[in-house]
Amino acid sequence: MLQAILLVIVSLSCIQAMPAPLPQDPISPSDRMFAEQYLDTFYLMRSKSKNTFAEKIKEMQKFFGMSVTGRLDSDTMAMMKTPRCGMPDIAEFRQFPGNPKWTKTRLTYSIVNYTPDLSRQVVDTAIQRAFGVWSNVTPLQFTKVSSGDADILIRFGARTHGDSSPFDGPSGVLAHAYGPGRGIGGDAHFDEDERWTSSRTGFNLFLVAAHEFGHSLGLDHSTDPRALMFPTYHYVDTQAFRLSQDDINGIQSIYGRRQ
Ligand SMILES: [Zn+2]
Ligand SMILES: [Zn+2]
Repeated sequence: MLQAILLVIVSLSCIQAMPAPLPQDPISPSDRMFAEQYLDTFYLMRSKSKNTFAEKIKEMQKFFGMSVTGRLDSDTMAMMKTPRCGMPDIAEFRQFPGNPKWTKTRLTYSIVNYTPDLSRQVVDTAIQRAFGVWSNVTPLQFTKVSSGDADILIRFGARTHGDSSPFDGPSGVLAHAYGPGRGIGGDAHFDEDERWTSSRTGFNLFLVAAHEFGHSLGLDHSTDPRALMFPTYHYVDTQAFRLSQDDINGIQSIYGRRQ
């Protein structure tokens, strides 16, 4: 009996002693699925093969200025879980082909519905200020109208909300917007499952709206972490808010400078 136990112990230690190739960063199946979904949405990953997966991780790491390893390490995973905009990070994945822009400088917007998180007045002010970020540096002018045929329709919605890009519940994707064009073109949608605020808690509506209106006007995501058009959310003091030079260069390359 004792011999048998010893034999078992010896065999177990033999198994443990065998060189087993341990992955440096063990990936849980749920993280792997999360990462696949993320790369599919934001980096146009159309195949789940091991090679494509690693290539797309590299593309994502490069975009965010991280070390390009092609491995789903904890830093990469943390970046993927940072709240962000729902628009992709690679420009070929446009809703409308080419580089659409508005061909007029006077644009109208309409707030179709309001979030219950804030008073109407606070929402109106945040939206107006968010447009002001762009009209300050371009010839563009934005006027709020109440009719539904405005150029830019703004709405709040949760999960499925009337287009082909349902929202994902709290955190994750915060909002998305469509590039210039007719119909849904220019429209900006905000995930009602987020807590919208006018402060540093929750998600600041002015900051997210200013980013989304960049898309409404034709801008893509920027790789400059200081840019408003960087894909992830981070709070900055909204009173002292200033566009980065990258944002200004981007929007002025489309519409020119303010007269
Ligand atoms: Zn965005
Ligand atoms: Zn939408």
